[in-house]
Amino acid sequence: MIHLTASQMASKLIAGETTSVELTQAHLHRIAEVDSNVHAFLFVDSKGALEQAAAVDAKRSAGEKLAPLAGVPLALKDVMVQKGIPTTAGSKILEGWRPPYDSTVVTNLKNNGIVILGKTNMDEFAMGSSTENSAFGPTHNPWDLTRIPGGSGGGSSAALAAFEAPLAIGTDTGGSIRQPAAVTGTVGVKPTYGGVSRFGLIAFSSSLDQAGPCARTVLDAALLHEAIAGHDPKDSTSINAPVPQVVAAAKTGDVKGMKIGVVKELNGEGYQSGVRLRFEESLELLADAGAEIVEVSAPNFEYALAAYYLIAPSECSSNLARFDAMRYGLRVGDVDGASAESVMNLTREVGFGREVKRRIILGTYALSSGYYDAYYGSAQKVRTLITQDFNKAFEKCDVMVSPTCPTTAFKIGEKSNDPIAMYLNDIATIPVNMAGIGGMSLPAGLAPEDGLPVGFQIMAPAMQDQRMYLVGAVLEAALLTRWGAPLLSQAPELVGK
Ligand code: GLN
Repeated sequence: MIHLTASQMASKLIAGETTSVELTQAHLHRIAEVDSNVHAFLFVDSKGALEQAAAVDAKRSAGEKLAPLAGVPLALKDVMVQKGIPTTAGSKILEGWRPPYDSTVVTNLKNNGIVILGKTNMDEFAMGSSTENSAFGPTHNPWDLTRIPGGSGGGSSAALAAFEAPLAIGTDTGGSIRQPAAVTGTVGVKPTYGGVSRFGLIAFSSSLDQAGPCARTVLDAALLHEAIAGHDPKDSTSINAPVPQVVAAAKTGDVKGMKIGVVKELNGEGYQSGVRLRFEESLELLADAGAEIVEVSAPNFEYALAAYYLIAPSECSSNLARFDAMRYGLRVGDVDGASAESVMNLTREVGFGREVKRRIILGTYALSSGYYDAYYGSAQKVRTLITQDFNKAFEKCDVMVSPTCPTTAFKIGEKSNDPIAMYLNDIATIPVNMAGIGGMSLPAGLAPEDGLPVGFQIMAPAMQDQRMYLVGAVLEAALLTRWGAPLLSQAPELVGK
């Protein structure tokens, strides 16, 4: 049962062939069996999940009309607050904290009857590309346990690839939904900025952060997208407009006449050969399906990474000031006569990891008077140029495409002492966040040289998220015909390793 897609699970629930309790138990059993190897979860809420499942089953028996995904289990990235459930954002500084409220995403999940299995591992405060920055140890890639599952949302994507959950929530500030999806052979979507509420999403870089769906198929991602999206008065940047019809788009199956723009700057030197091979193959499949492949250029993407690593740390230095030892979680050095300042210093010294400290220092520097214009101000100008590049390119095409990542999953430890090498993983995903548009990654096959998954990225103009689902679903179907079975059926068995 755990190998079904979420929409297949939902159909079985509706047909009365299974119950939510049974489905939830099957996943809890799988987690117990494999998660000591994968470490996708930081907290498993067995009791709460079974209670939620029983409640959905009771409503179904009573003949209540339920949402499409009602009764299907999900894994929640630990950056999203859930009332009463330990929430750490991968940081020691929040250890022991239980949020007094639900994030809007969690409220929406609950209203849809989606069963929350637990909280997934992540880079501390979503800063990273490998989940090695978690204060609670790394997550392992189910394709090869010695490799990273991507980051920052490695736990969510690994849980999908290991069949510990059919659905997951991720957040994407510079690629943290799409990059883990790419290296685990799963699907991840960063919606248009403002499409999904940020209320209760622990802030890293508020102008870039966006929650979105993670799944094993494009249709499942679309179903989850519609469940969590929508206007929220509690988030001042939430879009007050109807949610894009992404489920209908995923079922359309026709890209005839659509123009697919290959981004010249994101497809060439620096990309692993197997990544390029699978990318080119996917383009051929889309052309066979009737799409027109064109080349587009985005000259300012070259500066996206540098600008991102000024803007994101700047915003994080401000956002993380709230962890002052007074309000949440950890408190160190609170002895008689200690000043608030010394308690704050000691707590932040012990509570934050190296990468978080590096970014706070960088961001504080970039925002300091005298440097503000030179660094933060210039980065914001680059951001505008990137948006203009997208606007120009979208005059020539309906969606833009690129490989999601330059390489397949690397070894745990390989880049952990080289921040720049780590940052470069996001070279192809960051422009989307800078412009606030939507981006999707879906599996394009395995790189012949290492047998590891490759991701294909689709980018759509703001509030046109349905286009990614349309193109993604057509490509997914074409690839499925070629492979004969879903990519994940080729992933090695995890039990007992
Ligand atoms: N890897 C990028 C970073 O470290 C993006 C992370 C994210 O999207 N949360 O900032």
